[in-house]
Amino acid sequence: MRKMIAGNWKMNGNLAANEALVQGILAGIGEPACDVVVCPPGIYIAQVQALLAGQDKVALGVQNVSQHQNGAYTGDVSADMLKEFGVRYAIVGHSERRQHQAETDTNVAIKAKRALEAGITPIVCVGETQRERDEGMTDYIVRRQLAAVTHLVGHCISEIVVAYEPVWAIGTGKTATPEEAQHVHAIMRTQLRAASEQADRIRLLYGGSMNASNAAQLLAQPDIDGGLIGGAALKPQDFLAIIAAAQ
Ligand code: PEP
Repeated sequence: MRKMIAGNWKMNGNLAANEALVQGILAGIGEPACDVVVCPPGIYIAQVQALLAGQDKVALGVQNVSQHQNGAYTGDVSADMLKEFGVRYAIVGHSERRQHQAETDTNVAIKAKRALEAGITPIVCVGETQRERDEGMTDYIVRRQLAAVTHLVGHCISEIVVAYEPVWAIGTGKTATPEEAQHVHAIMRTQLRAASEQADRIRLLYGGSMNASNAAQLLAQPDIDGGLIGGAALKPQDFLAIIAAAQ
């Protein structure tokens, strides 16, 4: 399966920095062996859409999407609106939104469904906190978070991307070992096979302090089909090195 490397810029950047970052990525990307996505902050979607125009090596994604279709939801941006700006992927359920915006499994599942309805591929994030890991609940938490999505989106499940992002590994420099990550990815694959005959084409990304040094080993695992990258997606050379590792 063709791997995917997606950059989550989080709430970083500005007009000048975004331009330098995109130009740096495009200048060095060559012919990538994987699909590449960048997810800037929502306010910069039009800018990055313009910077990516005329090429097909880097696709545009966003970090969130409303669970509502339209109407009186102040501050929200709908999937249909994002689609108008060439958005192809939407991260949903990132742990920072689950934590700071109190997004529930149900919210995340509805967001995934809304994205799919608009023709946007949701990148559904799942993962356990440090406490849940310490209590031996990793497998349960991941299964529960993923089940909410499989139940709601039904047969469209094969159209999603899943990102396993252990919360304790995000932005901390701590990474799951390749074996730990593969263990969780295998559980997700089994769960998805029970939900869809096409589960083997669902890309399962790993996220959590993936960088140029550890990417190759993580990406060599049989059920790790790519990476969701935070900090290392903000420097062209680091992001390009991860892309190069995704063969
Ligand atoms: C993320 O926020 O999705 C992420 C993986 O961050 P980092 O790579 O910085 O750990």
